[in-house]
Amino acid sequence: MIHYALSWRNTNEHLFDIAIRFVAPHDEPRLILPSWRPGKYQLQNFAANVREWTPNLRKLGPNVWCAEAKCGEDVEVRYRYWAGVIDAGSSYLDRSEAYFNGSTLFMWVDGLRSDECVLTIDTDWPVATQLPQDGKELRARNYDHLIDSPVIAGPFATQSFEESGATIQLVSIGCDTARFVEPVRGIVREQIAVFGELPLNEYKFLVHGGDRWHGVEHEDSCSMLVKRGASDFDEHFLSLASHEFFHLWNVKRMMPAAFAPYDYTQATPTRLLWAMEGITSYYGDLSLARSGYWSEQRYLSHLAHEIELLESSPARTHLSLAQTSFDAWVHDGTRPHDRGNAWYSFYTKGEIVAALLDLTLRSRRMSLDEVMRVLWAERILDEDALSRVVDDPPFFARYVDGVEPLPYAEIFALAGVRYEERRKRSTLGLKVKDGVIESVRSGSSGAAADLLPHDELLAVDGLRVHSTADVEHALHETKTGDEIETIFARNGGVMTRRLQLKDDGATEIRLHIEEEDNALRREWLRRRG
Ligand SMILES: [Zn+2]
Repeated sequence: MIHYALSWRNTNEHLFDIAIRFVAPHDEPRLILPSWRPGKYQLQNFAANVREWTPNLRKLGPNVWCAEAKCGEDVEVRYRYWAGVIDAGSSYLDRSEAYFNGSTLFMWVDGLRSDECVLTIDTDWPVATQLPQDGKELRARNYDHLIDSPVIAGPFATQSFEESGATIQLVSIGCDTARFVEPVRGIVREQIAVFGELPLNEYKFLVHGGDRWHGVEHEDSCSMLVKRGASDFDEHFLSLASHEFFHLWNVKRMMPAAFAPYDYTQATPTRLLWAMEGITSYYGDLSLARSGYWSEQRYLSHLAHEIELLESSPARTHLSLAQTSFDAWVHDGTRPHDRGNAWYSFYTKGEIVAALLDLTLRSRRMSLDEVMRVLWAERILDEDALSRVVDDPPFFARYVDGVEPLPYAEIFALAGVRYEERRKRSTLGLKVKDGVIESVRSGSSGAAADLLPHDELLAVDGLRVHSTADVEHALHETKTGDEIETIFARNGGVMTRRLQLKDDGATEIRLHIEEEDNALRREWLRRRG
């Protein structure tokens, strides 16, 4: 048994005090902090937040310590952890709440990772977590269970409902979730219908009001940061909740063999990440349609938007879906490199490919729902599990392992849906925010004129510009082949370039219901729960 105790002295310091008590399994046991957390497939630097460790801890590496103790001795080590930034996967402390993810701040004792853990929190606030509570003690089967269990302590509100013998709770702080009970119930029912069972007794949505959207899945709960004041708040809330709930099957209980068990010390790439995230995104939004929250046309508009995102990514022509999955670990969005041309989201293409695969299967009287049930029975998935179960080698060779253009028109026609593309006006291939170029699409007019990310774009065709929309506006009376002038600042100097406009506008995609009474579409989107 390992005892973890969490406390704090003054919330304004944003510092958690952590004590770990255990019996040394050998001389000088090592304590290790994870280098990443499940749900975000990038190495992180949690150890930078650790400070003021007790003298009986000696540092061996960036995130490895050793305790000065002999085998069999009782050991207690202490350290502090700075928790001043909130997202769904971080740890955060201020005067309004304490929120933590064990993966960021609890070290494990080398050799004792599978031992039962007890967690105590020194607070008068109520506590919400997926961990079973025994009086003041929270109990975890082992270290993996402990760190998969985020905890909120604070003045939260709770709504509950029962579904398929389980209690589902919306626990929220800084956000009113009462109106989401019925829509979430509808989504939950649709997802249970896909797998045929809900393998838990209790589930908690832990929701924080915030300034952006972010979610992380866990075994019997999820964390959601929701963007207060967002214009599409309700739709976005339900889409995120639906995505995270689907993960209780896909990722948390059914996972690539590379994750079983998780190796928290290093990157663990898998070509299946698109199936974990993309198929989850697919069912996440499909559940909004199947439950009746979205109309058929609203759902198709959503898919059209996802296709627009993918079709504006140059990397789709040279990087396969399986490769983006495998390389998730090397494409950290916070580092400045040519991400816009080198990378696209496997969430986005994964969702689109899942939709096209589902429709293809449905035209053969099968479905992705059936595939999911076969995979659910396997639980631990080898790298070829999905292609083996689907058994359509050309589909996988072209669209998952290859980079062939996706056959949108042909496949959506099966569902009585017309696919339309229209070229938008040129923006020089630039994304511009607050006057600074964020990305330059390769092959675009902007790329031909030598523009670079991080250049400060001053003027386009004689007009001052600050955003992508400004660039589009500045070009609204031009046509392909016209010459225009751009002025920008780089490396402390101001430069002028003349360029010739190319036909490089983004592609606008529309999906229209053409055939009102289409049996395949009706079966695809019908309510099941
Ligand atoms: Zn996800």
